[in-house]
Amino acid sequence: MKAITRFAPSPTGYIHIGNVRSAIYPYLVARQTDGKMILRIEDTDRERYVEGATELIEDTLKWLGLDWDEGPIIGGDNGPYFQSERLEIYHAWVKKLLDSGRAYADPTPAEKIDEYRRECTEKKIPFLYRNFRPENPPEWEPGMPIRFKSEPKEYSWTDAVMGEMHTGPEVLDDIILIKRDGYPTYNFAHIVDDAEMGVTHVMRGVEYLSSTPNYLALYEAFGLERPVLVSLPHILAPTGNKKLGKRDGAKSVTEYRDDGVLAEAMLNYLACLGWNDGTEQEIYTKEELVKHFSIDKIQTSGARYDETKLLWMNGQWIRRIFDEQGARALYDRTVGFWPESAENYDEEYRIKVLSIIYDRLKVLSDLREMTTYFFEDPEVNVSMIAENKFLKKLSEAEIEDLLKKTITKLSGVTEWNADNLQIALNELLEETERKPAELFSLIRLSISFAPFSPALNLTLDVLGREVSLARLNAAARSI
Ligand code: GLU
Repeated sequence: MKAITRFAPSPTGYIHIGNVRSAIYPYLVARQTDGKMILRIEDTDRERYVEGATELIEDTLKWLGLDWDEGPIIGGDNGPYFQSERLEIYHAWVKKLLDSGRAYADPTPAEKIDEYRRECTEKKIPFLYRNFRPENPPEWEPGMPIRFKSEPKEYSWTDAVMGEMHTGPEVLDDIILIKRDGYPTYNFAHIVDDAEMGVTHVMRGVEYLSSTPNYLALYEAFGLERPVLVSLPHILAPTGNKKLGKRDGAKSVTEYRDDGVLAEAMLNYLACLGWNDGTEQEIYTKEELVKHFSIDKIQTSGARYDETKLLWMNGQWIRRIFDEQGARALYDRTVGFWPESAENYDEEYRIKVLSIIYDRLKVLSDLREMTTYFFEDPEVNVSMIAENKFLKKLSEAEIEDLLKKTITKLSGVTEWNADNLQIALNELLEETERKPAELFSLIRLSISFAPFSPALNLTLDVLGREVSLARLNAAARSI
């Protein structure tokens, strides 16, 4: 069966990790069944509308490679794809219910409704609007909300993730279909749109599960077939038992992109947050996800958001791109993540630097801090040597002596390359009778004054003879 799925975000702000996962799963289902993925912008809540949020959503989906078959920008046969442009459609649909007596215009003032609510609270009974429904509703006029006329009954249905569900009449109520401002509610608009757009699988957050009986009542009133209902479990905050929120340290998807998280890693991480195919596999390409994804393997309980895992996965992807597509391919992805001084060097040199450091990167922006000394001479920092845990036992004279021996030894390397440098370093180790941690820490610090550097012979090789020896000399002079 070709699935028609949709991602239906509300443009109410930045696009959050949790929102994006509700785009990935519908995308995978559409692609694996050779179906269609629709992007629909649910912008009927005018108070929460944020300028620019739609562009951010489109941008994020494009970055992740989640292309849609119908929706903003590209159009399609079932447009418009902004709910705010579909008001006539909702009014035509609601008219069907008004005509058949399954909806009514509600003239009750808001204060009166508050009163009903208070009354119920005092009596400690649940507030159900259907118990206060006006007896003789008037003709609808603009400014009046339109409500569904519910029938108290039981519903049973299967949620593709949560399983068999059953509810009693107490959950059904006269929900608002059209608000006072003439815009439809989410509850109503999505039913109309999903039907008009031929959506076969409604995949959305589990927060909509409790309203589902009211949606089933609407399908029934319109004589619509129920789509496959798929409730996606919450993404939980790193600690505690609550939904991941903006305050839990999760950045927006675009912020992760700007830090140098790769789209492949983000997609991989989010797809596996609450789903796995039952094997040990953790790294999936988009194509593999399309192949292996299945709704029945979505977990029913919330999945915990874990940034450390995301960054680990990003490291895996950085390595994978380097190993499978080569240094150049990875380099092309690093534009904008280098320290400013890297601009003074050509691409060939930067690719060399990348080739010896890529396997230490968690995010591409690590390049900024981790590679500065490849592009500018570090300031000699004697205390960094003095305080180093391997070097603090050595006297100044011993350090100076070691540096001098290093300079002599390395000056004798005729052909400056990684292998020859390794041989020279090994000989030096024997000649000086020092522990590798001592000798190599000293050389490493003297050429970088950084807390970390790649393998010493590789670093020396990339820096080149002239720079390496000049830095060793500068360090020796300062001791
Ligand atoms: N506009 C709703 C939201 O952003 C979409 C829910 C749905 O997919 O139906 O939460």
